[in-house]
Amino acid sequence: MPCPFMGSLNQAFVRNYGTVLMKQYGNFCPIISRGFRSLGQDETKCPFIQKNNAVVADAPKEMTEDIVERARPYSYDKFFNEQISAKKRDYSYRVFRKVSRLAADGMYPQALEGLDNRRVTVWCANDYLGASRHPAVQDAAVSAIKSYGTGAGGTRNIAGNSQMTEKLESEIAKLHKKPAALIFSSCFVANDATLSTLAKILPGCIVYSDAGNHASMIQGIRNSRAPKHIFRHNDPKHLRELLSQSPEGVPKLVVFETVHSMSGAICPLEEMCNIAHEYGALTFVDEVHAVGLYGKHGAGIGEERGKEHKIDIVSGTLGKAFGNVGGYIAGSSLLVDTVRSLAPGFIFTTALPPPVLAGSLAAIRLLASEEGRSLRARHQAIVRYLKLSLLVAGLPQMPSVSHIVPVPIAGAQAVARVAESLMRRGHYVQAINHPTVARGAERLRFAPGPHHTPDMIDSLITALIESFHENNINFNQFLVNGTCRECSMEYKVEVPYEEPYKYPMIAA
Ligand code: PLP
Repeated sequence: MPCPFMGSLNQAFVRNYGTVLMKQYGNFCPIISRGFRSLGQDETKCPFIQKNNAVVADAPKEMTEDIVERARPYSYDKFFNEQISAKKRDYSYRVFRKVSRLAADGMYPQALEGLDNRRVTVWCANDYLGASRHPAVQDAAVSAIKSYGTGAGGTRNIAGNSQMTEKLESEIAKLHKKPAALIFSSCFVANDATLSTLAKILPGCIVYSDAGNHASMIQGIRNSRAPKHIFRHNDPKHLRELLSQSPEGVPKLVVFETVHSMSGAICPLEEMCNIAHEYGALTFVDEVHAVGLYGKHGAGIGEERGKEHKIDIVSGTLGKAFGNVGGYIAGSSLLVDTVRSLAPGFIFTTALPPPVLAGSLAAIRLLASEEGRSLRARHQAIVRYLKLSLLVAGLPQMPSVSHIVPVPIAGAQAVARVAESLMRRGHYVQAINHPTVARGAERLRFAPGPHHTPDMIDSLITALIESFHENNINFNQFLVNGTCRECSMEYKVEVPYEEPYKYPMIAA
C-alpha cells in the first residue's frame, strides 16, 4: 500500500529531503516507527491508518534497519578528510606560498616570502612584462579609485556599467580588429560562459576540442552538454580526420589555444583555422598566454602571423601580460551580443571595478605602443638567455618555442623538493603537478621577464644545479667551471643586456 503522505509529495523533494522527512515524521508511521521504538521512542499512530482503520503487515527487520541507518546524519568531515588525505598521499595537495610581489622601483621582480618576509626572486608570475607595476598602469588605477571608488556597485545591467567599461571593450575590439568585445570577471569565466552558451544554443552543435585545452574551455564544453570530439594536441591532421566525418550543415566549434600555458608550444594557427572553415566550423581561439606578448600591438599570435581574421572568436585575459584581472572575448557584433544577452556567467555577476578597468585600459595602450614593443623585445632576449643558459649547464628543458620555459622533473615529490631547494636559495618557482599537468609530466615552469637581469639568471642556474644535486636528480652536466668536460672548449652565452629596465615614461 503506497504511503498516502509520501505519495502526496513531489518525488524530487522526497529524494532530496528523505532523511529529514524520516526524522521528523517517522514516528507517526506505524511501519517506520517500529525501528524507532526499538531505540526507546514512544509509540505513535499514523493518522491516516487510524482514520481508515487499515491493517498493515509487519515490515521486514532489514528494511527498518536500513531506514534507521539512512536517518543518521551524513559524516561530512569524514568524507572531506578522505579527499584531502588522498591528495596528500599522492603529493598533489597544494600548499599556497605566501609571496607579496614588490612593485617599487628596483624591487620588481622580487617578493617578500613567508611569515618572515624573506626577499626572493619570482620566476613564475604571469605578470609577464611587469605591467601590474608600470607607473602608467598604477597611476590610472589609483586615479580611477579616487574618482569612482573601488567597486563597480552592481552587475552590468544594474548600475555596474560605466563609460569606462565600454571604452575598455572598444579598446579590446580595436586591438583584435573585431567589431565587438565583451569583458568578464576572468578568462576562466569568459571561456566557460561563451563556450557553454554557444554550444548549447546553436542547434545540434558539435564541438572539436584540442586535447591540451585549458580547464576553462573543457568546463564550458562540458557545461553545454553538446557532443564533442577531442583532437590530438596541435594536430591539424587529426582535426581534419574528425571534421571530415561530421555531418554537413550542422554548427560546429573548433576550440584551441595559441600559446600552450604549460608547455609553451605554439599551435599551427592558420592551418587549424583553414581546416575548421573548410568544414564550416567557427574557430574559438584562446590567446591568454599570447596577448600583450606577441604581435606589433600585443594582440597575440594571430597578429604576429597576420592571421587575426581567421579567428572567429578570440579569448584573452587582463590578468597576465596586462597586469590586472578579468577576461574577454572578441568577435562579430551579433555573436558578442548573443553571449551578452544569454550567458549567465556574464549576466549574473558584479561588473569589473573602476581601478581594474582603468588599469587594463592603460596596460593595453602601453603594450600597443613603442614602449610595449621594446618590452617585448627585451622579454624575448631574456627568455633566449635563460634557454641557452639551461642548455649550456646541461639542465633539462622542454622544447618550448615561446616565453614559457618548462624544466621537467618527473614525480610530484621530486619537483616539490627541487622547488623547495630553490626557494632556500632565494628563487621562487612553483612546482607544477597534477591536475594542472598529467602525472609523470611534473615540471618547474619558468616565465622570465624583461625585468629579470642576466645576473639573476646566472644565479638561478647555479641554484638549479645545486638543487638537482641536493635532491639526487641526475642531469647531463657537461660544463665544469664554464668549460666543456669533454673537449675543454669554453662556453659563453651572449648577455642580452647589462642594465636593468628603465621606464621611458612615454606610453603613447
Ligand atoms: N586560458 C588559459 C590557457 C589559461 O592558462 C588560463 C589561466 O591560467 C585561463 C584561460 C583563465 O584565465 P584567467 O586567469 O583570466 O581566469
